[in-house]
Amino acid sequence: VRSAAQWADFGRDHVSHGLGRLRDHVIVKGEGLDLHTADGKKLLDFTAGIGVTNLGHCHPAVSQAAAAQVNTLVHLQCSIGFHAPYLQLIDRLLPVMPHQSLDQFFFWNSGSEAVEAAVKVARKATGRQNIIVFQGAYHGRTMGSGAMTRSKPIYTQGTGPLMPGVFASAYPYWHGLGVSPSTSEEELVRLAKHQLDLVLRQQTSPTDVAAIFIEPVQGEGGYVPCPPAFLHYLREVCDKHGIKLVIDEVQTGFFRTGKYFAIDHITPSFRPDIMVFAKGVANGFPISGIVANKETMDTLDVGSMGGTYAGNAVACAAGVAAQDVYASGEIEANVAARSEQLYATLNKLATSSKTKHLIADVRGLGLMSAIEFRNPADSLTQEGLPEGTSIPKSIGKRVQEHCLDNDLLVLTTSCFDTIRFIPALVCTEEQMTRAMGIFTEAVEKVAL
Ligand code: PMP
Repeated sequence: VRSAAQWADFGRDHVSHGLGRLRDHVIVKGEGLDLHTADGKKLLDFTAGIGVTNLGHCHPAVSQAAAAQVNTLVHLQCSIGFHAPYLQLIDRLLPVMPHQSLDQFFFWNSGSEAVEAAVKVARKATGRQNIIVFQGAYHGRTMGSGAMTRSKPIYTQGTGPLMPGVFASAYPYWHGLGVSPSTSEEELVRLAKHQLDLVLRQQTSPTDVAAIFIEPVQGEGGYVPCPPAFLHYLREVCDKHGIKLVIDEVQTGFFRTGKYFAIDHITPSFRPDIMVFAKGVANGFPISGIVANKETMDTLDVGSMGGTYAGNAVACAAGVAAQDVYASGEIEANVAARSEQLYATLNKLATSSKTKHLIADVRGLGLMSAIEFRNPADSLTQEGLPEGTSIPKSIGKRVQEHCLDNDLLVLTTSCFDTIRFIPALVCTEEQMTRAMGIFTEAVEKVAL
């Protein structure tokens, strides 16, 4: 029998060095927003598995549905036939699709696989090869999805060549466009449109482009909501040139941003050609999916898609139970209340005389929100800084350390000096108050 410390040593000795970790906690149990460690600590989890356990760890309805399925049918390879939970999950998802044209599904295991499936579908449907993504994007770390990730080179450093034919344009965001954080949304959209026009004039002919992929709130790139006007522009460009518009809702889906999908914030209803989802769909069971309109999906050859575990029965059953909880309306209401509480704290820090000099930006949508600190290595974030004020480096890391020392798990993002907040959507008022207390204390401590 190993002690908690011995298990942590064992992990350090034998778990691949290629994985990073916040801390070497050995987690033995999860319940709502609480994670229990092998040495008896209780951590408040504001990471939710990076936006996966939206209903909290081990949500009873999801766990019970999965347990029942374990004793009924665990696996049926998807080319053998349909299984009941697969069809039930589609039945639950159909009515909540952001656009009624999205009615052809298949499931995969991870977000990256769904992204790559979308590349295949878009290429097959258009007979073209090139893909356009946005700077700061995260679509995965495999050879195809990794080529489409533009948030941090470490994900693919030294491991190329990756999938060719991927071009990146600027996301409508001040960092990517090299303008000040106070630039108006209208101006950001104008600049980003111009950049995309240049990509299509100077780098790839639109007639070679199969798809444009975009995250409606850029995730690993810094929790940056995309202005709806830019999404409308992408729709226009895609329609004009016969390009497929792929919305990556892997991190933003399932009420993370306050609505079922992030593009549900756009009215009237927004029409992607293809959408990919994962993470929150089954609250922790490994399943992802791709949905497209019939015209697009029907171009696939029979048997060209599939995989051994894709659309696993236990994961589908968990997904069905999760959709029933999402459909109740309670989650949507709670995200609205908790995000208001979260923003009140972040905005207070951004205006308080004690801490405002540290903060460059507060942004996000729903419970996918972030605070960015000024960084002496990044001149854009120095705007408005009173003369003679000195800003320490890596404030985010130091704030995060303080939170971790006080048993609050929070993440930074891949880009910039940012702390992001993605608690389970069942977060209580008390848990949010507690987390914001620890976080405020951390920022004030760094400000001293
Ligand atoms: N797309 C987005 C927007 C993501 O946030 C992620 C994961 N962080 C992925 C794709 C890849 O998903 P997975 O890690 O399940 O492969």
